[in-house]
Amino acid sequence: MTVHTRPYLKDGIELDQVAVKGIRVTGHHGVFDRERESGQLFFADVVVHVNTRTAGAGDDLARTVNYSDLADATADVLAGEPVKLIEAVAERIARVALEFDGVQCVDVTVHKPQAPLHVEFHDVSVCIRRDLRDGALWADKRIGSSAGASDDPFDPGAGPVRDVLDQRPAQPVPALIALGGNLGDVEPTLRQAVSDLHRVNGVEVRAASALVRSTPEAGREQPDYLNAVVRLHTSLAPRELLAACQGIEMVHGRDRSDPSGNRTLDLDIVEYNGVVASAPDLTLPHPRAHVRPFVLLPWSSMEADATLAPHGSVVDLAREAGTDRVTLVHDRWPQPPSAT
Ligand code: ATP
Ligand code: CA
Ligand code: CA
Repeated sequence: MTVHTRPYLKDGIELDQVAVKGIRVTGHHGVFDRERESGQLFFADVVVHVNTRTAGAGDDLARTVNYSDLADATADVLAGEPVKLIEAVAERIARVALEFDGVQCVDVTVHKPQAPLHVEFHDVSVCIRRDLRDGALWADKRIGSSAGASDDPFDPGAGPVRDVLDQRPAQPVPALIALGGNLGDVEPTLRQAVSDLHRVNGVEVRAASALVRSTPEAGREQPDYLNAVVRLHTSLAPRELLAACQGIEMVHGRDRSDPSGNRTLDLDIVEYNGVVASAPDLTLPHPRAHVRPFVLLPWSSMEADATLAPHGSVVDLAREAGTDRVTLVHDRWPQPPSAT
């Protein structure tokens, strides 16, 4: 195993890498019957991108990726259900590796040195990278809908275009995301979520609102929420953006089975380039945003001229929604509180 560091993210943030190389297993992948029957050697190299600093400082195995488990999981895929192409084997290994806690990105190389070629050769290999913060990667892991899910390992992306919610724009378009949370250390979670959004391929965060505190609706015995909104520009389709949001919620421990409704992080798409559309998995604009003070107040103070189709001026909507239940926490958020 080797651990080394190199930058790979678009904003220059460095993660550490844990690599297991040369995992060697007999598998039965291939297009020819004889490959399926007798099998041959496959090798895999897996590099997971993680933050190992806390594990390194505390010498704590539970806080990093256990490379023995990673090697076992990789070997299981290599020896497992035969598929035709090593691209598909690599895709499956990437999926398994991304399930490990803390893994944000993975590089997988699958080698097939005994492939049936007509010439002398040394190796045949396929190398892929899959990044959790890439909206397209999450598109088939959408919560609340099986729509777009695809068994095709070469189509981890948006799947067939079915409606306007699957359409990528020709140019990046503006969208507004509402962030909220009321469990755990919420302010750092929201701040991290803003930078996670910015790191998604095809998303650029342009502005963040003030941070507000909101008390839950009457009758809901819940801790207060912190809320904010961010303006971003995106080249993702609406469903891809939703998938990216849900991926970030998951990374921050969102537990949808919690009956209390409390959550570490909630990311809602308030609006996407004025699109008005409704499907079981996604409604645009968000069907309740126009009456929510914890969305409208931070939004109207960030963008005084904003409108929310088809409801009208956000300043007017904020006035109608009222200001009780919402108080200002930081007006120059998401800078660290100490900097304000
Ligand atoms: P609310 O939507 O009232 O704020 P919530 O955020 O607590 O409720 P979730 O459990 O986070 O609800 O989401 C339920 C489902 O809502 C999601 O699985 C998603 O498919 C769907 N959804 C529909 N429209 C949107 C949208 N504009 N933004 C985010 N999720 C949406
Ligand atoms: Ca919500
Ligand atoms: Ca939500």
